[in-house]
Amino acid sequence: MPMMTAEQYEKGLRKLNLVVYMFGKQLDNVVDDPIIRPSMQAVAKTYDMAHRPEHEDLMTATSHITGNKINRFTHIHQSVEDLVKKSKMGRLLGRETGCCFQRCVGMDALNVLSIVTYNMDQKLGTDYNQRFLKYLEYVQESDFTCDGAMTDPKGDRSLPPHKQPDPDHYLHVVEERDEGIVVRGAKAHQTGAVNSHEIIVMPTIAMRQEDRDYAVSFALPADAEGIVYIMGRQSCDTRKLEAGLLDRGNIFFGGHEALVVFDDVFVPWDRVFMYKEFEFVGQLVEKFAAFHRQSYACKVGVGDVLIGASQTAAEYNNVAGASHIKDKIIEMNHLNETLYCGCIACASEGFKEDCGTYSVNSLLANIHKQNVTRFPYDISRLAQDIAGGLMVTLPSEQDLISPETGKWLEKYYTAGCDVPAINRMRILRLIENMTLGTAAVGYLTESMHGAGSPQAQRIMISRLINMAEKKRAAKKLCGIDEE
Ligand code: SF4
Ligand code: FE
Repeated sequence: MPMMTAEQYEKGLRKLNLVVYMFGKQLDNVVDDPIIRPSMQAVAKTYDMAHRPEHEDLMTATSHITGNKINRFTHIHQSVEDLVKKSKMGRLLGRETGCCFQRCVGMDALNVLSIVTYNMDQKLGTDYNQRFLKYLEYVQESDFTCDGAMTDPKGDRSLPPHKQPDPDHYLHVVEERDEGIVVRGAKAHQTGAVNSHEIIVMPTIAMRQEDRDYAVSFALPADAEGIVYIMGRQSCDTRKLEAGLLDRGNIFFGGHEALVVFDDVFVPWDRVFMYKEFEFVGQLVEKFAAFHRQSYACKVGVGDVLIGASQTAAEYNNVAGASHIKDKIIEMNHLNETLYCGCIACASEGFKEDCGTYSVNSLLANIHKQNVTRFPYDISRLAQDIAGGLMVTLPSEQDLISPETGKWLEKYYTAGCDVPAINRMRILRLIENMTLGTAAVGYLTESMHGAGSPQAQRIMISRLINMAEKKRAAKKLCGIDEE
């Protein structure tokens, strides 16, 4: 099958038989649910953009296994150029959607499995890579969206998986059969889970021999028997149930996360990519983290939208010429482009793994993600500063269209220039959505904790920095000779 269109993607999702709960009830129709639909539209954008000639170079690639043209989200990076294009694609889509478009985690899972399955086979004489490549071809030819599922609920954080009072707090194998394995556990915070065709499960932390039942990676159709999705709430989510669009801020797109429960789910052997190989979990987690930390290029694109919204709000308030406003906008751009430097740099300094896949520079990917845990908060602070208090005291769209109150809102929310009150309300609602509402999940909290919380990057930075080289440089310059 050639690359899917957005329409084919939506049509395909309708055929899935997902078990999804939200607000205590099972959903009959996931695709048309008003709370979920904007997130589906954001993923659909990754299909739509791949068909636009002006974005073909970033959004598509040539498969190294079939030679076919594929969506870059299913591609295995074959060069530094591919890695750079991945970062640019993230920014582009962040700017188009103003939110999390959800498809990166699966791309990062495919790439890390291409490396680790190969490394396991080299050392252990297994055939994981062959199984994986067969699966990869299926994903590429079907142009699927894959949910990359890594984060376990983790229970008692001070204990390893095998010592947890509840053994299911990390996903594990509970039964081995001739045809496959049975797994039990859950994956938390799963971005775009119910917009995905497939779910690719990976372990979440480095493991020892005693944890070997937890050292498991596999892929399943998203609607495999025994998988249950429980939707996470977002701040202001029920605004999507209200009449009118204005109060949503972003009237087209959104993201979503879910808790995914694996209630004794069967996985056939041809979809098992790691089975009890505990010595390889560390490299899988680290390499995945580096890829996914690079993926936070998306926040640069979302930052573009927030900067554009802030400048617009300033112009609507007739204060865009004030020197302190100009300086704040410069600061926002400085922070946002610094993030761009990080995601381009870790890609540009990428390298070829033994299997041929290109990995990013891990130190620089961690530096980039560490910046992402901070700068979107600073950019949001400045956006709120420029927006003014009206952003959080605005009455609703219904008050604007009401004959009793609308005239007062028109009168008092016009800022002296010829911009109608409704447009002023629209731009303020967008800033509210991105810094306090549903999209703040993606732009702020996910910047903090997605792809690992700040401390995880600091540990990696301390491990990856070449301190000996720095000390040698310093000692040499001041005449210390200890050799
Ligand atoms: Fe992709 Fe960014 Fe969403 Fe993660 S937060 S899935 S990197 S868009
Ligand atoms: Fe994420």
